[in-house]
Amino acid sequence: MLVVMQAGATKEQIDQVLDAIRQMNLTPHPLPGATRTAIGITGNTAAVDERSIEVLSGVKECIRVTKPYKLASREMHAADTVIDLPQGTFGPNTFTIIAGPCSVENEAMIQKTAEQLLEKGVRFLRAGAFKPRSSPYSFQGMGLEGLEILKRVKKRTGIGIVTELMDTEYTDAVEDAADIIQIGARNMQNFSLLKRVSRTSKPVLVKRGLAATLEEWLMAAEYVMSGGNYRVILCERGVRTFSDHSRNTLDLSVIPPVKQLSHLPILVDPSHGTGKRNYVPPMAMAALAAGADGLLIEAHPDPDHALSDGAQSLDFTAFAKLLERLRQMAPLMGKKWQ
Ligand code: PEP
Ligand code: MN
Repeated sequence: MLVVMQAGATKEQIDQVLDAIRQMNLTPHPLPGATRTAIGITGNTAAVDERSIEVLSGVKECIRVTKPYKLASREMHAADTVIDLPQGTFGPNTFTIIAGPCSVENEAMIQKTAEQLLEKGVRFLRAGAFKPRSSPYSFQGMGLEGLEILKRVKKRTGIGIVTELMDTEYTDAVEDAADIIQIGARNMQNFSLLKRVSRTSKPVLVKRGLAATLEEWLMAAEYVMSGGNYRVILCERGVRTFSDHSRNTLDLSVIPPVKQLSHLPILVDPSHGTGKRNYVPPMAMAALAAGADGLLIEAHPDPDHALSDGAQSLDFTAFAKLLERLRQMAPLMGKKWQ
């Protein structure tokens, strides 16, 4: 349910409404806007009589949100969410790149990657310290030591860090190392993990599950937002279909409905989406054309010797070439580059 306050509503009036909602055992989420404040209500609102809220002073109207996701929906929050970080912005008017190797392999390669990215104007580095691998015999990531490497490289270069959290157990450590916490496709419906990151101070990048519908994906975002962390970025990374010409089927057709139904920024990961490095540049450009707000892309100093996902990783020459084309395309899409 959405409570729309009158344009001139005072702080006392807003506080009174917040208290009234809490007394109903529901959770209020103040949503300040340019001209007026609205208050989202989550919890079991079915039994709430909206008239009991509409009579409170300063309230303009109460609107029932019909979608199962509430805070993630445009019904509740019409304006696009913009997530501003010191290293860059995620929102409707920008196109922001996050790039780097699949995994943290050692300090030298992360340092080299950070330098290469910064030189090219990319200010977010992705690299997993904890890796969700299909085989227990594959490289599982460097774990806590990998996080320490990311922290040192950030300290030396200032680059923003995007890294995956796989278990609630390591939340504090990942929160400390990351500027954006990544929730991987396999954990999109790990509800205890989503609830735990909803209590962190960092933006959360929620990758779409391997077989998740749009509604299930937005419900995952809702889990994070319902706990009070409103800084959620969605990331399309391909879904499982009958097609076997690529690792996954990159579902760029999900972007327009995401934009219609939700105010959250959406990135595209053409690396996991295709699984093959030759396919990455065309799909990266297609993502920009389809309305994505940025990319999460695998780039590695020596892809042929990468410990994970080398086949889909670009080397820095191919990466630079792609960046140049994207930079030229971005203004045509009404997007400020980086
Ligand atoms: C990754 O980004 O390296 C990763 C494991 O992605 P996904 O969860 O989309 O498979
Ligand atoms: Mn990977």
